[in-house]
Amino acid sequence: MRRTVRIGLLATIIVLATVILLAIELFSSPPLTPYTELTLPASEQDSGLQAQWFGVSTLTIGDGETTVMIDGFFSRPSWLSLLFMPLSPDLARIDAALALGQVDKADALFVAHSHHDHAMDSAVVAGTLGARLMGSESTANIGRGGGLGEDQIRVIQHGDILNLGQFEIRIFETPHSPDPVTPGTIDQPLTPPARLADYRLGENYSFLLNHPQGRILIVPSAHYVPGLFQEVQADVVFLSIGLLGKQPGDFIRSYWKETVQATAAQLVIPIHWDDFSRPLDQPLQALPYLLDDMEASMTQLMELAQTDGVAIRLMPLAVPVQLTTPEAP
Ligand SMILES: [Zn+2]
Repeated sequence: MRRTVRIGLLATIIVLATVILLAIELFSSPPLTPYTELTLPASEQDSGLQAQWFGVSTLTIGDGETTVMIDGFFSRPSWLSLLFMPLSPDLARIDAALALGQVDKADALFVAHSHHDHAMDSAVVAGTLGARLMGSESTANIGRGGGLGEDQIRVIQHGDILNLGQFEIRIFETPHSPDPVTPGTIDQPLTPPARLADYRLGENYSFLLNHPQGRILIVPSAHYVPGLFQEVQADVVFLSIGLLGKQPGDFIRSYWKETVQATAAQLVIPIHWDDFSRPLDQPLQALPYLLDDMEASMTQLMELAQTDGVAIRLMPLAVPVQLTTPEAP
């Protein structure tokens, strides 16, 4: 009898230890050290096209006169909040991030899709920066629920071409990365606090920014439409690699072909690799293995880049970077 109890206890300890080790493994992230030397330097002058990145696919692109922002997501609620708490834009974090990047105005805020990690702060950020909110009908409902007037919102669609200063911005509807959580649309104004599941996908967009000083393609979610960018030329591609590390090699190669090879871009800047549950005042980490594998996607992309003579670089956090094409490795 006592022997049975001892064996039972031992078995329980082994199972518990295995579960704990598995959880630690799943919630840990690939190290970022292999990519340190790929990080672009801060620009030394403020001429030309400048980009700033704030994690996920939150970007600004500006030429000194006109500033275009993408997504404007700064709140970055923790996993605990995401799973169990109603979500509201974190005004202190938004202000701190904008101050860190010295961003005090934008002409337009283009939102990729209506998941929380792209859209949840969009109404506050558009209001704060005096930017017009540009997105799907679902994103427009986040704007309305967040208090923006109709004159501060524009619903965009595939094929739209917008002119802002010297930028010509082309809108492409592209699919979300495979198996999105919370699909569907937001059909009523969404006023925070709201649950994670309320931030339903809506349409997902990629953006081409044509400017006399450069052509920039932004792909905020890692998927593609065969042939869509056949007629598009780009110098730089901001390429989402979010959840790409879980995709098979064929998918990654097709994604590269349809976004980088199709546009003949010479510089690829992976985005959406960071763990968006960590605030921006803590060091960035890659998404945990539970969701993604940055090492797997980066290894494959770097091989493809080497073959094609394309440079891969990462953005530093918040500081402006001049968007000129560096030499390929
Ligand atoms: Zn999403």
